[in-house]
Amino acid sequence: MSKASLFLNACIVSPDLSGNIHTMNNAHLAVDNGIISYVGTSEEEAKNSLLNPSSADMFNCRNKLIMPTFANGHSHLPMSLLKNSADDLPLEDWLFNHILPREENLNSDDIYFGSLLGIAEMIQSGIGATADMYFMAENTARAASEAGFRINLCHDGKYKKDDYWYTDEKGFSEFSRSISNMDSEMIRTSLMVHSIYLYPEYLYPQLSEMAKSLNTSIQVHISETQVEVDNSIRLYGRTPVEALRDFGIFDRPCIGAHGVHLSDSDRKILSEKKVTIAHNPSSNMKLASGLCDVRSLIAEGVNVTLGTDGSASNNNLNMFQEIRLASFIAKIVCDDAAALNAKELIDISTRAGYHSMGFNKSGVLEAGMNADLQIIDLLNPSIWPVGQPESAIVYSATTSCVESVMVAGNFLKYKNDLLTIDIDKIRHETMTRSRRIAGA
Ligand SMILES: [Zn+2]
Repeated sequence: MSKASLFLNACIVSPDLSGNIHTMNNAHLAVDNGIISYVGTSEEEAKNSLLNPSSADMFNCRNKLIMPTFANGHSHLPMSLLKNSADDLPLEDWLFNHILPREENLNSDDIYFGSLLGIAEMIQSGIGATADMYFMAENTARAASEAGFRINLCHDGKYKKDDYWYTDEKGFSEFSRSISNMDSEMIRTSLMVHSIYLYPEYLYPQLSEMAKSLNTSIQVHISETQVEVDNSIRLYGRTPVEALRDFGIFDRPCIGAHGVHLSDSDRKILSEKKVTIAHNPSSNMKLASGLCDVRSLIAEGVNVTLGTDGSASNNNLNMFQEIRLASFIAKIVCDDAAALNAKELIDISTRAGYHSMGFNKSGVLEAGMNADLQIIDLLNPSIWPVGQPESAIVYSATTSCVESVMVAGNFLKYKNDLLTIDIDKIRHETMTRSRRIAGA
């Protein structure tokens, strides 16, 4: 049980449950037992919303802005160990000749410490949850649990033997059992379907059936490069979106990362099947994958979120960079400076992201919602003078502006210190492990 907290005199910026952004000055926010009990302009009502106001921690938030923590729509946490090890390469060369061979050297402790490093970096930049895709995920689950971090975590769910792939429902059940000690409000599971290009045709319908049988969601990469689309059309006579739909992958709630090379028909399918597209601006630009047309996706009714992708292709996990770049990309793609405005970006990077992961009580600062929030120091030179708060968040703020981060009513970062992660230990562990993996 977390302590009650009372934040007074803040500028509070948050989407409502419909995605409309509201900004309040001189506002107060109360938290009781991990849940927001009040948001508004009456200090008395804020205090009265607490079971025991006299025992609450009080925070004077003059010159502070409170907003929901970011939800990272797509990541590969353990890839923090591969940071800065293979750069300036096109995706196919980067993935098949550099990343996959190194990943064969990873053991379970590497996954655990790499995940903690990634989570530490995310907390630093105001992220409170991520949708993560990697293998040996029980080690990432342990890292997230210890850090007090929300996560929607993929399990691989299949294995290869004598050149044939098999689904592994028993392994998925064991994975679910291994995380059953975690707070069920902090973790969601999903099945990994890496992409349309990594497995044989017969495996996809089996994975779809497995997800239905397990009643779980799916994470997949979709149409990240033109090469992927061309190969899919050559092999299946269909785009990746059409092929994944026909294989039944979209019959369960699905987070599709990238969606860079889509046809009008693809966007209609994604909308009809309620597939979320996690847009990854930095990764798409660095790997020269292309520019995602977010405005067309939104116009078609697709739920769009924002992700960092993994540290090996980005090379950081900084949502302030992603919201800024997403806005700039949309303006260039649409040839319209009004495209994807600051308010839309705040909603996409918070409420929409949590919604895609199944955390429907996070991402919105309202009474009854989870106390997942970040406190931004408005006196920081990069954001001062503030002007329009929504613009300040999207176009000016940097990680250094994030003073504190709270998830489920617990501070993970307080006045710039990480409280749940021993960063000196993680630094030592990840340095020796990253050298070993690189073969240095
Ligand atoms: Zn990815």
